[in-house]
Amino acid sequence: MISIFNYFSLNKCQLIIFVINRNLYLHSMDNNTKNLVDKGEMLPLMESFYTIQGEGFYKGTAAYFIRLGGCDVGCHWCDVKESWDALLHPPTLTTEIVEKTKNFSETVVITGGEPLMWDMTMLTKLLNAKNKSIHIETSGAYDLSGNWNWICLSPKKRKLPKKEIYQVANELKMIIYNKSDFEFAEIEAAKVNSDCVLFLQPEWSKRDLVMPLIVDYVMQNPKWKVSLQTHKYLKIP
Ligand code: SF4
Repeated sequence: MISIFNYFSLNKCQLIIFVINRNLYLHSMDNNTKNLVDKGEMLPLMESFYTIQGEGFYKGTAAYFIRLGGCDVGCHWCDVKESWDALLHPPTLTTEIVEKTKNFSETVVITGGEPLMWDMTMLTKLLNAKNKSIHIETSGAYDLSGNWNWICLSPKKRKLPKKEIYQVANELKMIIYNKSDFEFAEIEAAKVNSDCVLFLQPEWSKRDLVMPLIVDYVMQNPKWKVSLQTHKYLKIP
């Protein structure tokens, strides 16, 4: 499927965001497909692959990743901008998506894009039936759907999480791009439940600049842990 938008053009000073929202995605398809997507029986699959979870609490764990298209949060440093336009990622039967996980690890990570733009009920139900441990990586900007074994919440300033997710998040992952992000991290940490594990992670392009700041900050505020994108150091997906 070809997008009707040439959806972004970026240089260091310019960011153009086209909001390709769920409704526009649904509007682009026939009624039957629309119905299936609406119920989560089809999802805009961008890619799926078996790798090692590089970040956060489960760093180093073999995991099958399912990346869904669609995100309108618009982080300027986003490293998967090609996920933003859901129209670039054709609806795929959820049963097919789940079937592909069968020969891989028990851990399945649902990521995006912003996966909660879509109804996750069917996807998590089918994965649960295959005894998978189901993780999600989300900005929390949309209502939580589905049943999860692990919720990694990564709030973004441009579109804050829905209130309900703070109480069920297992892991809070705050991306540090500049100094002001420490303040934002503390504001968000004050909202999560007491069992939630707190991580500060350098934005990849700024890692050399912000890593020393993160190290100092974590030593002074040991409730936080450092998360690195180890998959990028390992040169794996
Ligand atoms: S929420 Fe995630 S996928 Fe969406 S723009 Fe931000 S970093 Fe990219």
